Amino acid sequence: MTPPAQHDVLVLGGGNAGLSLAGRLRRDGCRDVAVVEPKDVHEYRPLLSYVAAGMATVDDLTRPQDDVVPDGVRRYADRVVGVDAERSVVRLAGGTELGYGDLAVCPGAEVDWDAVPGAQEAVGTPHAATSYVTGLAAKTWTMLSSLTSGRVVFAVSARHVPCFPVAYKPLFVAADHWRRAGVLDAIDIQLVVEAHRLVDDPRAEPALRAAADRYGVHVRTGTRLDSVDAADRTVRLRGQHGTSTTAYDALYVAPPHRAPGWIADSGLATPESDGFVAVDPRTLQHVAHPRVWGLGDAAAVDAMPSGGALRRQVPVVARNIQARRKGTPMQHYDGYTVAPVTTSRRELLLAEYDREGRPDPGFPLVDLARPRGSLLLFDRYLQPPIYWRRLVQGKVS
Ligand SMILES: Cc1cc2nc3c(=O)[nH]c(=O)nc-3n(C[C@H](O)[C@H](O)[C@H](O)COP(=O)(O)OP(=O)(O)OC[C@H]3O[C@@H](n4cnc5c(N)ncnc54)[C@H](O)[C@@H]3O)c2cc1C
Repeated sequence: MTPPAQHDVLVLGGGNAGLSLAGRLRRDGCRDVAVVEPKDVHEYRPLLSYVAAGMATVDDLTRPQDDVVPDGVRRYADRVVGVDAERSVVRLAGGTELGYGDLAVCPGAEVDWDAVPGAQEAVGTPHAATSYVTGLAAKTWTMLSSLTSGRVVFAVSARHVPCFPVAYKPLFVAADHWRRAGVLDAIDIQLVVEAHRLVDDPRAEPALRAAADRYGVHVRTGTRLDSVDAADRTVRLRGQHGTSTTAYDALYVAPPHRAPGWIADSGLATPESDGFVAVDPRTLQHVAHPRVWGLGDAAAVDAMPSGGALRRQVPVVARNIQARRKGTPMQHYDGYTVAPVTTSRRELLLAEYDREGRPDPGFPLVDLARPRGSLLLFDRYLQPPIYWRRLVQGKVS
């Protein structure tokens, strides 16, 4: 049997986490970095919320994968099917085996339709949609913007949803649209949030509540979407006081997510990590396999997954790979995460906090948790070029 091709650092998944890390390792002088990524198109996923809010198109968020893989990084256009951490070998769907010095596991999370019976069937109808599936994001705005009366339910799960407060972006932009169209009073807007707060940043919560009050949104926190009956157009909700059934004319879902199954099948998860890569949330090193690292949406890092969180996770993993090799002290990820939320068609606030829920503002001199027009322009128009030119190229400090 031929021995597997060997790479100094092998990265599984060429999304935000994988490409940022690969680029950063190359910048730090690592000569042999390879990424396994099956998709030929790379997505800047934060723009999906703007597609769902009628402020961007899917074309705006996609680039050919090979154009964005950082220089000097080899890409395997294949899918990982398993990792044998005892032998330090990764198996690909096409039958190739790859060996590694260090392994970074970052294949993201996937929508868990099984967790909400009926939801997948519902988003196949014109009356329900989500921004969490690329092919359904544009339909979200078609559905919301054409509503002139009736009840709309926005159901936002807290189970591993990447950057879940961004699900309020289509809500507030749509409410603004209904207000300008003169139909806001004819629409009953129900926001059902599984978490106990709209966002874990105590500075941003009042501003989001104020925006909800302004548009007459009925907010129910601590309530989850249990199931959907697409034929009857009803949702079953479960809160502290039991279950209830509500009819809808339009339904937006931010569905629960789960880790790819091969992570647990490869022994890289623990019962506590719920199928996600079991890492020390500070060093991002695997709890049982010192040469395996986890970051991004697929890793159990005890913080809300977000692209912004990767700006801190990527340098930590890059430095800790070197620290492990040299036997020097490791750096820590503090659980920083961020959620940009529009409060109207013109304004946006930034919720930034650490894993204890403490505010962790990137620019402490300006209160970015207050809605601002300049922040919306930054998030919608400046952040994407920064992503393509800097973040996925590993220019993260
Ligand atoms: C609708 C939406 C809006 C968002 N808005 C924001 C925002 O405004 N701000 C913010 O900070 N964050 C936002 N996020 C979160 C952000 O996009 C994610 O946190 C970030 O993309 C995570 O990067 P990742 O590399 O871990 O996962 P991903 O970006 O999902 O990339 C994972 C990659 O792994 C690949 N992969 C999967 N399985 C395999 C396999 N078996 N083998 C090899 N490769 C595989 C996939 O093809 C994919 O390219 C949003 C996310 C969504 C979905």
